[in-house]
Amino acid sequence: MNKRDYYEVLGVSKSATKEEIKKAYRKLSKQYHPDINKAADADEKFKEISEAYEVLSDQQKKAHYDQFGHTDPNQGFGQDFGGGGGFGGFEDIFSSFFGGGGGRRRDPNAPRQGADLQYTMSLKFEEAVFGKDTTIEIPREEECKTCKGSGAKPGTKVNTCSHCQGTGQLNVEQNTPFGRIVNKRSCHHCQGTGKIIPNKCSTCHGEGKVKTRKKIEVKVPAGIDDGQQLRVTGQGEPGVNGGPPGDLYVVFSIRSHEFFERDGDDIYCEMPITMAQAALGDEIEVPTVHGKVKLKIPAGTQTGTRFRLKGKGAPNVRGYGQGDQHVVILLVTPRKLTEKQKQLLREFSEISGQNAPDEQEQSFFAKVKRAFKGD
Ligand SMILES: [Zn+2]
Ligand SMILES: [Zn+2]
Repeated sequence: MNKRDYYEVLGVSKSATKEEIKKAYRKLSKQYHPDINKAADADEKFKEISEAYEVLSDQQKKAHYDQFGHTDPNQGFGQDFGGGGGFGGFEDIFSSFFGGGGGRRRDPNAPRQGADLQYTMSLKFEEAVFGKDTTIEIPREEECKTCKGSGAKPGTKVNTCSHCQGTGQLNVEQNTPFGRIVNKRSCHHCQGTGKIIPNKCSTCHGEGKVKTRKKIEVKVPAGIDDGQQLRVTGQGEPGVNGGPPGDLYVVFSIRSHEFFERDGDDIYCEMPITMAQAALGDEIEVPTVHGKVKLKIPAGTQTGTRFRLKGKGAPNVRGYGQGDQHVVILLVTPRKLTEKQKQLLREFSEISGQNAPDEQEQSFFAKVKRAFKGD
């Protein structure tokens, strides 16, 4: 093992105090942090520094190291992290805090896409079927025109935060039963932006963005259905550090109709007819979203019978044809009858027993008879 001496790594003497070790570690870890130092060996150096500090900051490990140095076979920090053993355990812990394994930590100065926005648009039944061109007003942030998004008063500079070296994050050390760990916390000097603005823009107070109500034209496609959404590219929040803007998602909420009902591209309705119309047959007019349509009701139509009006539904939102309208017949039994009507119905009932029922009627009544026998 040609590992460097831990004291040498941190640049402190063997008699260094806890405070001196800590100070040396802080200084070096800042200098070699891979997010700041882009040198090829910065990562290795940073690991070496962290490993040295891991040992020298822990009284027990330090005493062990002082006695045995790197040569002791039992001297693995891994054991303190519960398994793994040797250096491997340390590596694993290390990775999870410093962006290894999972995705890397976010650089506050990197271009970032703006946030997506969502807007719920309420539509009338017919508007959803036929679509419409409309303008919506959404509250959103826009790049400040005064400072062009920098947040600084025109003609003044934006400085890099000296506390976090522009990374937007500070290291916070913590002692835990598993050893000393270093966590990242958003830098409170610069609010995690990595930037300090001495002279703030008076329009946006240094935010670089202003809240506005933006008018956006939206083409609602014909045949849109409840819950579907439309993406309006580039109309979300503005990007950060020159990143692209987010998108706007318009989600449609379609109000119910008192007569029509949508199911995909098809429209359903219930059409009430009288007993006489059902028995004798008739030609009725049915409303559709495309205007009224004549429908022939054959004699002997039962309640619940369904008729299809081809092409009278909603257009498919992706352009695949057109839905139908389904008309469900609802036989309405009269509730209020005049004496004359009652008389006629009694007569009708009397003579109804005389003519032979058709096959379907026979099978209905036969079923009832069989059910009574089962008593
Ligand atoms: Zn900072
Ligand atoms: Zn501004």
